[in-house]
Amino acid sequence: MISANATTAETAADEPAVETAKRRLDRLADLVDVSDEYVERLKYPSQVHRVSIPVRLDDGDIEVFEGFRAQHDNVRGPYKGGIRYAPGVTADECVSLAMAMTWKCALLDLPFGGAKGGVAVDPRSLSTEEKRRLTRRFAEEMRSFVGPQTDIPAPDMGTDAQTMAWIADVYKMQTGDGTRGVVTGKPPRVGGLAGREEAPGRSTALVAREAANYYDLPIDGLTVAIQGFGSVGGHAARLLDEWGARVVAVSDIDGGVFDENGLDIDALSAGTGPLSDRDAAAEADELTNDALLELDVDVLIPAAVGGVLTADNAPNVEASLVVEGANEPTTAEADAVLAERGVPVIPDILANAGGVTASYFEWLQNTNGRSWTHDEVRDELDERMLAAWEAVRESREARDVPWRDAAYAVALERVAESHETLGIWP
Ligand code: GLU
Repeated sequence: MISANATTAETAADEPAVETAKRRLDRLADLVDVSDEYVERLKYPSQVHRVSIPVRLDDGDIEVFEGFRAQHDNVRGPYKGGIRYAPGVTADECVSLAMAMTWKCALLDLPFGGAKGGVAVDPRSLSTEEKRRLTRRFAEEMRSFVGPQTDIPAPDMGTDAQTMAWIADVYKMQTGDGTRGVVTGKPPRVGGLAGREEAPGRSTALVAREAANYYDLPIDGLTVAIQGFGSVGGHAARLLDEWGARVVAVSDIDGGVFDENGLDIDALSAGTGPLSDRDAAAEADELTNDALLELDVDVLIPAAVGGVLTADNAPNVEASLVVEGANEPTTAEADAVLAERGVPVIPDILANAGGVTASYFEWLQNTNGRSWTHDEVRDELDERMLAAWEAVRESREARDVPWRDAAYAVALERVAESHETLGIWP
């Protein structure tokens, strides 16, 4: 069973994600047509902020939490990236995820750089009022370095639209700027975007469909196992089911359910409580999160926490294709094992990039005052995702490298070229 703090799971054989990210840049420097010195610069975050967040708990005690915001690179535009609430969040974890945001935004050709923040807290241990106080104090601590043209947070693991509404409100109360473009992923009634919530799951489903098709696995009857039934996994499951795939397993933090004939995703989503206790799972078997990763399916979508595919379990993955709905679910060692075993892995920076792409539409809506309809969001999101998929496919074929390197090469070339155009300050 995975736990909420398995964000950068490191078995003895798995190196920290931030080291993997740096080594990847060394490897990719040879693949792209830009000078090594600009690639070298991208191994380091521009800034890493660390703040303390004292919170009065409901029982009257005060607890102090640690919060982080890593800003990796902003050559293409304001820093952009989510804020996660999870036990054990560290500055290094935020740095590696901020780097991934730089590449994700560049891959989708968005005018943003990369950032990521977090608070080391188990959000499930807090009441709504405690979360509100924690978030508002964190927002205030971040106020000097975030803003609609400087750094724009968004939801990530353990945070949601309500969290973003609180942050936007603090910013408005303290600065008087009511445009709300300081954060994305807000509820639609306070400046948010219809379709932002489903966007990372939508893009994951879309990329899974394209990738499966590329490997001659048609969507009709495609068997899929999804770890995570939240914002990414839940929406990906719903769409793949709607498009004709057979979603045979899903899970949440407490474990999952499996039915080889396919689960009734709509009915399962409508239920509450543990997945295995829901009426819609009456015919299904219970299974652990670990077992889900080793099911013999066409497509495996890890869409919960990071670091779940490791050197230990990668040899047992039976899926024909892995599509990363979560950020960094595959360690470098697992990546190598899967490559050797011929299991393609479609990377997070492509698959779940629908989230930040819809964030871009929301930011446009807030900064230029023109609202978007849900249909407009879906259409433009699909168009941009398919263009990114094509760019990665071409890069893979031209460079003859795995999908992850192919995607990173497209992004790195765009970012490093911008740096090369400007040179090093001053
Ligand atoms: N947290 C999401 C991600 O990892 C969304 C980031 C954003 O919208 O800024 O892509």
